[in-house]
Amino acid sequence: MKILVMNCGSSSLKYQLIDTDTEAVLASGLCERIGIDGQLTHKVNGNKIKDEEKNAMPNHEVAVQIVLDALVDKDFGVITDLKEIQAVGHRVVHGGEKFASSVVITDEVMQAIAECNDLAPLHNPANLVGIQSCQKVLPNVPMVAVFDTAFHQTMPEKAYMYGLPHEYYEKYKVRRYGFHGTSHSFVSKRLAELTGLALDQSKLIVCHIGNGGSVTAVQNGKSVDTSMGLTPLEGIIMGTRSGSIDPAIVEFIAHKENKTIDEVMQVLNKESGLAGMSGLTSDFRDIRAGKAAGNPLAAVAMEAYIYCIAKYVGAYAAAMNGVDAIAFTAGIGENAIEVRKGVMSYLGFLGVEIDEAQCQITGEEVCVTTPASKVKVYIIPTNEELAIARETLALVKK
Ligand code: AMP
Repeated sequence: MKILVMNCGSSSLKYQLIDTDTEAVLASGLCERIGIDGQLTHKVNGNKIKDEEKNAMPNHEVAVQIVLDALVDKDFGVITDLKEIQAVGHRVVHGGEKFASSVVITDEVMQAIAECNDLAPLHNPANLVGIQSCQKVLPNVPMVAVFDTAFHQTMPEKAYMYGLPHEYYEKYKVRRYGFHGTSHSFVSKRLAELTGLALDQSKLIVCHIGNGGSVTAVQNGKSVDTSMGLTPLEGIIMGTRSGSIDPAIVEFIAHKENKTIDEVMQVLNKESGLAGMSGLTSDFRDIRAGKAAGNPLAAVAMEAYIYCIAKYVGAYAAAMNGVDAIAFTAGIGENAIEVRKGVMSYLGFLGVEIDEAQCQITGEEVCVTTPASKVKVYIIPTNEELAIARETLALVKK
């Protein structure tokens, strides 16, 4: 079956057309600057066919149409008829408490996603616009919503309730939700396969560390705790997000710098993390280069980054009363050797033994601990699009 996977942002749209029989990516790409000047990057078999080509894209509906035109183009198209697209899987950021799994999209589902808009005001409205645009252009094709938060709906109350007056939960559903659920689910399943553990009898920790980052404790195949919270701001230090800080800092900085709460939140979301700490950029490779060039702020940023990930791993080992295996994934997790080694160097007490040679391998599935290591650590490239395609296939086949 050919499934189109869509990930719509407020001014962007990422897509992949996946053949679920072979799990091959037939085409992929990105529409950017929707509503501004419109740019399309389109790849077939990983090769760029159109690179930042300017297209008038006044709205998402036009962007979707441009993507479909590229897919059936007579010169470089990968399908001959749009009828070959049998389903569309949409990434939706926030499903609140309403969605604990992926669902076939109906009018009621659209309404329920809209009711979660308050929880993700930048993302959910854009996801909805993306779905509506696809529905207009592909009216008879089944569509599925796959939520970033759904995998974490298995967390127990003790993990998701904050130490706040209960009325805020009752009135506004203020609680931990967690994100990157599609990736944590995909990687934890694969980690169990690679280690030969039965998923329903395993204690796993997944470190999804890219520009955004979160650590999740997965016990018996279910998320039991995760580092991101009501929003993606909580948890480990990230590219530009501060991660967890003393909440009193918000008021302190607002007074000292004469900023509004919105302005301080902008600082915490966009100007903090590795970028803010180092004074460089959010890109880990710049932090690495800064450290190598003797920049002391870059060195501290990297140390603090590694340290806070190690602390979450330790906390989650305690939360599950043990850990069988750990995975690193996403841009930094898959590629940054110093981060995986740095985190593992804190975990000797758990029985983690680094395999120095294996640890040098990047960009592929690899075990980076010795055969004798009590806790196995793997690098597992994530594939959220494939996970969305699999979820979509499972629901439309029913
Ligand atoms: P993601 O959000 O998963 O795309 O990850 C983006 C992050 O991965 C950025 O901070 C990149 O600097 C980082 N990254 C990508 N490639 C490498 C690499 N070869 N070494 C270190 N970090 C990398």
